[in-house]
Amino acid sequence: MGLFLKGITLPKRLSAPSLSLIELAAPEKVILPLRQYVGEPSEAIVAVGDSVKTGQLIADASDTHRLPVHATISGTVTEITAHSDPRGLHVESICIESDGTDTWLTPPEAQQPPPDTDNMVTRIHAAGLIAQGPFSTPLAYDLVPVDQPKTYLYRDGTNVVQKIDTLLINCLDAEPSLGVNRYLASTHNDTLEQGIAALKAITGATRVVFAVDKHFSPWPQLNEIVQNDEEEATCITALNGRRFPTGLPIPLVKAALSREVPLPYGHPRDVGVALYDLHTVIAVGTSTTSSAPQTTTMITLGGGALKQQGIATVRLGTTIGSLIDSLGGTTDAAKIICGGPMTGMAQYDRDTPITKEVTGLFALTDTEIQLSGEYRECINCGMCVKVCPVNLLPGILSLYCAKDKFDLAEAEGLFSCIECGACDYVCPSRRPLVHLFRHAKHQLME
Ligand code: SF4
Ligand code: SF4
Repeated sequence: MGLFLKGITLPKRLSAPSLSLIELAAPEKVILPLRQYVGEPSEAIVAVGDSVKTGQLIADASDTHRLPVHATISGTVTEITAHSDPRGLHVESICIESDGTDTWLTPPEAQQPPPDTDNMVTRIHAAGLIAQGPFSTPLAYDLVPVDQPKTYLYRDGTNVVQKIDTLLINCLDAEPSLGVNRYLASTHNDTLEQGIAALKAITGATRVVFAVDKHFSPWPQLNEIVQNDEEEATCITALNGRRFPTGLPIPLVKAALSREVPLPYGHPRDVGVALYDLHTVIAVGTSTTSSAPQTTTMITLGGGALKQQGIATVRLGTTIGSLIDSLGGTTDAAKIICGGPMTGMAQYDRDTPITKEVTGLFALTDTEIQLSGEYRECINCGMCVKVCPVNLLPGILSLYCAKDKFDLAEAEGLFSCIECGACDYVCPSRRPLVHLFRHAKHQLME
């Protein structure tokens, strides 16, 4: 354990999220993008003026590259048009005005887990689950069936294929400011064990490792699962969650399992690991044992400018503006961010909806965002090199990217960058390093 030595330790204000549970009423309006992941959009099967009920299928998905969309409140479809999403993209979206009753089409019922893995994956897909991450994908597409291992890696003209042996459950969060997984790790979740059983069956993993934050104990349910495993193939690994970016996939696999994901283009599955957030594992358990599709998501609400901070279950499609209003508003917010302060995206439109990809909503004050002003030339101080968890030379990369020398940046390892933002955070010249890297990747992929 503990091979992950780089990265940064964030101050307490950025690593101690409030884990109080906030109850929220259903919103009066939702905006549901037809694409809430990397992939193809779904096709709307309702029209403006239609009445819909909560849980009703409103956009269909013909394959695992796209996901079905369900109404998250009952009411009337008022618009089907392009709306900005949390990534700043314009995506065709279905808008629903509430009828105030929140009536389900069919109230969710408990059901027996399917006996075979194909049907498990079918239910996961029908529920509309995604695998969250920088490139969120439909979960059914991301899952690695035991008899069809996947890889993105090619070496010597052939695919490198590795069987999955370990289910690594991320009970930390992508950033220390986010708290959903750490909150769930400290509470009891009715469908966690079903989720683990389904993911073991689908991926073929024989071992389960819970990666937890040592600062957020105890984990009573996780301890019970470990003790009840007669095969002794389940364990808990406690990591320093204040060290950033321990909660991101590549560093997490290294810190929890001492395995190195090959970069660039590697994936935890290339070293035999199926890696999922605790939040996702619980959702898998729910989708395989209940008829309810995903209509909500659990997110962290934080930042010094937000009147209430904590963890909340939010209806998908709730607009950022109405969510902030329902929390009592903000005081002197200098920046609104979807995701966490280190890796999230700044938001400028109150009507942007909370989607399946969103892990947090932060309203930051001036002091929290360390207003940077103009960025300056690189002074070759090397601080970015010291913290980069994947051993890149961010300063040099940024020079190539800023001068549009994208091929040189690629040769220098641009696609190994996991966009954690640690280099940005320490750069005394306030260079917008991650912004430059994202732009360069985008240009190369085009
Ligand atoms: S270069 Fe990429 S991986 Fe390295 S610290 Fe910067 S953002 Fe993180
Ligand atoms: S931290 Fe900033 S100034 Fe220092 S080497 Fe890196 S990019 Fe240059």
